[in-house]
Amino acid sequence: MINLESMLYVFSSVLFIIGIKRLSHPKTARSGNFIASLGMLIAIITTLVSNSTVNLELIAVGIVIGSVIGAFFAIRVEMTQMPQMVAIFNGFGGIASALIAAAEFLNPSEPLLSFSIATISLSVFVGTLTFTGSFIAFGKLQGFISGQPIVFLGQQLLNAIIGISILGLSIYITLDPEQINIFYLIIAASAIIGIGLTIPIGGADMPVVISLLNSYSGIAATSTGFVLNNNALIISGALVGASGLILTNIMCKGMNRSLANVIFGAVGLEQTTGSDGESKQINVKSYSTEEAAMIFDAAEKIIVVPGYGLAVAQAQHAVREVAEFLAKKGKKVLYAIHPVAGRMPGHMNVLLAEANIPYDQLKDLDEVNNEFEDCDVALVLGANDVVNPAARHDSSSPIYGMPILDVDKSRTVIINKRTMNTGFAGVQNELFGYDNSIMVFGDAKDMLQKLLKDLKEL
Ligand code: NDP
Repeated sequence: MINLESMLYVFSSVLFIIGIKRLSHPKTARSGNFIASLGMLIAIITTLVSNSTVNLELIAVGIVIGSVIGAFFAIRVEMTQMPQMVAIFNGFGGIASALIAAAEFLNPSEPLLSFSIATISLSVFVGTLTFTGSFIAFGKLQGFISGQPIVFLGQQLLNAIIGISILGLSIYITLDPEQINIFYLIIAASAIIGIGLTIPIGGADMPVVISLLNSYSGIAATSTGFVLNNNALIISGALVGASGLILTNIMCKGMNRSLANVIFGAVGLEQTTGSDGESKQINVKSYSTEEAAMIFDAAEKIIVVPGYGLAVAQAQHAVREVAEFLAKKGKKVLYAIHPVAGRMPGHMNVLLAEANIPYDQLKDLDEVNNEFEDCDVALVLGANDVVNPAARHDSSSPIYGMPILDVDKSRTVIINKRTMNTGFAGVQNELFGYDNSIMVFGDAKDMLQKLLKDLKEL
C-alpha cells in the first residue's frame, strides 16, 4: 500500500506539472486546468483511502459546503474581480495549511521531533501571514480599504522587529514545545506582520503582491506537507511556491522594479502634480465616431491596445467586429498586449480569446513596440497606465520605469475612455494631450458599435 500510495502521489504530481505547462498557452489552458484538477482528485482520494483514521462523514460535509460556496462565487464573480478572488483563494490556502500545522502541534499523532516543530512554526507563520495579507489585498482591490499605500514612521523597523521576534519565538518553542502560549503568540505576530507587510503596498503594485502571496500559500502548504509527511502536498506546495515566485519575477521585470522596491517602496501614493511640482493641465482634442471612422478609413496599419476599460465594457466582441471589418477592407490589424494591462496576469489574452480573436494577431510588448513607428492608428481602448509615456521620462511618476506600449510613436493615437479619470495608478496621462492624440469619449462597447456603423456608412 505504501508503494502504491507513493506511486499515486508521484502520478498526481506529474499531472500537476503537465497541467501547469499547458496553462502557459490559452489554447491548451482549459485542458491544463482539467489535468491538474484530476491530479488533485487522485491525491485527495489516495490520502483519504490511505488514512483509515479520518472521519469520512465530516470530510464529505466539508467538501459539499466548500464546493457550494466555491461554485457560487466562481459563477458570480466578474472577470474584472478575478484578482480579488485569487487573493481570497490564497488567503484560505494559507490559513488551511496553518490550521493543519497548528492541529498537529496541539494534538500530535506521534511525539513531535524538533524538525517537525520547526516546520510547524514555519507553516503557521507563512500560512497566517498569507491569510491576513491576502485579506488586506482583497480589501484594497475591492475598495473596502484605501488602495493607496498606508505608511507611517518606523513602519519597516516595526515589521523587522516583529519578524525577528517570530524567529526567536519559533526557536524557543522548538526547544520547549510545552509553551503553548508562545505558540499562540507566534500566530498573533504572524497575523500582524501579514497586515504590516501588505498595507504599505498600493497602486499598480497590487498584482505583484497577489502573485507573491500565492507563492507564500505554496510555501505554507509545502511545510505542512513536511509536518504530515505527505509527498503530494510537499510537491504541489513547491510547485505553487515556485510558479508564484516566477510570476512575481516576470511581473517585477514587466514593471522594471525590484521585488524589494515593490514591497518596501510604498510606490503608488496619489500623485496630482508633475515632476516640476506644478499641477499639469491637459488639453485634449475630442472627436466623434464619424470623424474617427474617416481616420480609420485612410489608415493601412492599425494596432489595437486593449486595457482594463475594455474588460469593464465587455467590448471584446465589438472590437473583433470592428477589426474584422477593417481587415476585410485590406488593412493590417494587430493587437498589442501589455503584461499588466487589465487587473490580472493574462487578462487581455483571456478576454480576447473569449471573442475568438486569432492568437497570431496578439503581439506582446517586446514584439509589438517596434511596430508602432510605422503604424497609422493606435486605437487605445480603456487602457491608461500601460500607455502613459511618463513611465519613460518622469522619475516622480509612480509608474516610472514600467515598460509601456509606445503608442505615442504612431502617426495618430485614438484613445477611448469615458472621462478624463485616471487609471489604476491614480496618475493623469500626458499622452491624451499630445499633438497626435485624439480622444473619442464613451463606453468602449457603445463607441465601437457606433464606430462600426459609421465605418459601414463611409
Ligand atoms: P488603467 O486602470 O490604467 O485604466 C483603465 C481606463 O479604462 C481608465 O482610465 C478608465 O477611464 C477606462 N474605462 C473604465 N471603464 C471603461 C469603459 N466602460 N469604457 C471605456 N473605458 C473605460 O488600465 P490599464 O489596463 O492601462 O492598466 C492596468 C493597471 O492596473 C496598471 O496600473 C497595472 O499595474 C494595474 N493592475 C494590473 C493587474 C494585472 O495583473 N494585470 C492587477 C491589478 C492592477 P474612465 O473611467 O475615464 O472611463
